Order: sequence, then structure tokens, then C-alpha cells
Amino acid sequence: MFRSVRGMKDLYGREAEKYDFICNKFRSIGERYGFEMIYTPLLEYTDVFSRSIGDETDVVSKEMYSFLDKGDESVTLRPEGTAGAIRAIVCEHLDQFLPVKVMYCGEMFRYDRPQKGRFRQFRQFGIEWIEEKNPYTDAITIAIAVDCIQSIGLFDFKVLINSLGDEETRENYTKAIVKYLSRHEDMLSIESQARLKKNPLRILDSKNNQDIEICSMAPIFIDYLSKEARLYFNKVCSLLEDYGINYEINHFLVRGLDYYSHTAFEIQSTSSSYRDALGGGGRYDRLLSVFGGQDVSGIGFAIGIERLMILMDSLFVQKNRRKIAVIPVSETENSFAFSVFRNLQECELPVEFIHHGNLSKKMKIADRLGCNIAILLGENEIQDKTATVKFMNSCDAAMKTKIIKLDDIINFLRCN
Ligand code: AMP
Repeated sequence: MFRSVRGMKDLYGREAEKYDFICNKFRSIGERYGFEMIYTPLLEYTDVFSRSIGDETDVVSKEMYSFLDKGDESVTLRPEGTAGAIRAIVCEHLDQFLPVKVMYCGEMFRYDRPQKGRFRQFRQFGIEWIEEKNPYTDAITIAIAVDCIQSIGLFDFKVLINSLGDEETRENYTKAIVKYLSRHEDMLSIESQARLKKNPLRILDSKNNQDIEICSMAPIFIDYLSKEARLYFNKVCSLLEDYGINYEINHFLVRGLDYYSHTAFEIQSTSSSYRDALGGGGRYDRLLSVFGGQDVSGIGFAIGIERLMILMDSLFVQKNRRKIAVIPVSETENSFAFSVFRNLQECELPVEFIHHGNLSKKMKIADRLGCNIAILLGENEIQDKTATVKFMNSCDAAMKTKIIKLDDIINFLRCN
């Protein structure tokens, strides 16, 4: 038997439907905030990731699918969306006119240890917003991420934020953390000992328990913020309060990638069925210039779709999707019902024509096809120029069935 590659799943049926539903929902939220889709290659030259994400990060040092192509060039399946999107923005000179607001949705690849909510091929929705740095953009970006997650009926999560400050902040903080960690060097994991010399901030992402304990007593970023960075962070926090977004400041949130500065944030599930990060992002001051673009800042986030699919109520898609079945009660009404079906299709309503078998079989087919509204057309309806509309998933008896005049049916369906 053949099988799919470990950590890479086939997506079909209800799961594929969930995925499409989430992507479409997020895209429409992105559009509402003025973002346009960008499609970048799945494969990039390896240095697109290593130079931006950072050689010392877990993603680059352990998790990338990199190989030499037939021309001996080192290429990598994208492990995240930001580096490729920024590379494209610079290559295509999109940064000549600001702001640039792009969003993406698609496959990412990381050689991670597969487990619940962690795959080797997974999908992310993300946005990147390039514009002169200002705290409003940071607050709106976090609000978009929150909007996305709430739009699919998920409310059990918390927003963590931190500020990694500007370059001055990071220089001062790095000195302080090296001083602190050097005192505990012997107790650090071998990997963290090596990172102490090369990229000490990455020790804060270590998954090693002993490292985590040592880091919990380390100096915190917020005490090293420059005056400017502190004012900036305070403003972001007060704007989040204006939005009514609850957040927690997490002093050790550095996120796993090197390019962040100022605001970093993460959204974590608090549901009992799955607790882990659902998404995260932050500001990057130098990423465009790494790719030879303008010296302008940007901010973005990525949300992992598979984790949302675990948490999302399996009926959510059905409840929120509208698919209509036009059903003649008996064969006699077939041709009349067919003309109603054609009319609804012409009005761009999602509709199926179901005419096989008796009424109960037709209702079952409609259910299997995922229809949630059935339009029944029998002898009486045709005579009265009406349709019986059944809401198939409604538990409310009063809402279950309605008689609607055929002349009003399109308006009714557009509004329901
Ligand atoms: P990151 O790009 O590491 O900030 O990840 C952003 C989001 O992508 C995370 O919060 C997860 O929801 C999701 N994610 C990251 N790695 C994986 C993975 N290996 N499998 C599934 N989802 C992932």
C-alpha cells in the first residue's frame, strides 16, 4: 500500500469544506480591511529564509525542507509566508507605493515532530502590511487576527503581547541577558550554550525544561525599552483597550523568528480540547531592507488553519453555509421546479436540483449534499404561486418551515 508522507494529510470531504470555509471567511475579512491576495512560489532559494528568519532559529536550523535542485541551487519549501511575501514585494517593486497590504493562504512545510495540531505540511492564512511605522497599524493588525478567529465561532483564546523594542532596546537587552545566562551557562542545554554565543535571544524560545526554568528568572524586555519604544508600546496597548480586546503582556514572548521588533503577539487557545498557539505575528523593522527594498517597517501575522479546524464545531460550516435544494414533491412538478432551479442559478444563488426518488429520499440526498434550505414545490404551491421553504438544520420549530410567494423567493433567499 502507498501512504502519504508522514505529517502530510489528505484533505477531503467535510475537512476540505472546513478548510475552504475558513480561508474564504478570512479572505473576506482581509478584503474588508483593504488587503489583496498575493500568491508566491512554494519553493524559494534557501537564503530567502535563512537570511530573514535567522540561521539560529528552530525553523531554519532544524525544520526546513531544503534540497539541491538539478542546477545545484539550494531551494527550500516555504516554512512560513512572510519571507516569500516580502521577497516578492521587493522584487516586484510593490514597495514603491505605500502602503502595501497583502494577504495569503496556503501550504507551509516544516520538518516538525507530527502530533495533534502539528504537521509537516500545514496551512496558514496571513497578512503583511507595509507602511510607515505607527501604533494604529499594530492595533488594527491584532484586531484583524482576533476578528478572523472569532468569525468562525471560536472565543476560547487569549491574546499575548510583548514589545521587543527598537535596535537600541535589543542591544541593551541582549547584553543583559548574556550577562544573566552566562552565570547559568553550565546548566543550559548544549544547544542553548551554543546559542549564547551566536544568538542569545533564541534561548528564550527553547523547549528544554531546564532552559525554560532559567529563562523564567531572566531580565525582561520591558525594563530595557528605550523611551520611544516604551511610548510606542503603551500606545498599542491603549488602542487595544479602545478596541475592547483583552490582552496579557507576556515578557518572554519573542516568537520563533529573528526578524521581529517592537510589537510581538500570539493568540493562544484556552479551550480544554486543544491548548496551543493558534497564530501570531509582529512588527519587523528591517525585513524589507534585508531583501534590498526600502527602509520601511511592516507588520503581519499568520494563523494556522489546521489548529482552527480541530477547534471548530463540526456543524459550524453547515450552519453558516447556504446551499439550497429545489425539490419537486412529485414527478408532475419536475419541469416547474426545474425552471425555478434555473432562475435561482441565474441569480447566482448556490442551488441544487434534486428530482430522484420519493420525497423522503430527495430530502436525504439534499442533506447529504450539505443543503440547508429546501424549496419544496408541490401541486398546491404551484397553484398558489408559492414555495414551501424548509430550514433543514433549524432546531426551532417555528423557524423550520415558511410559505413564501414565488415572486419574493429570490429576495427572501438573499436575506436568509
Ligand atoms: P509561526 O509561523 O511559527 O508563527 O506559526 C504561526 C501559526 O502556524 C502557529 O500559531 C500555528 O497555528 C501554525 N503552525 C506552526 N507550525 C505548525 C505545524 N507544524 N503544524 C500545524 N500548524 C502549525
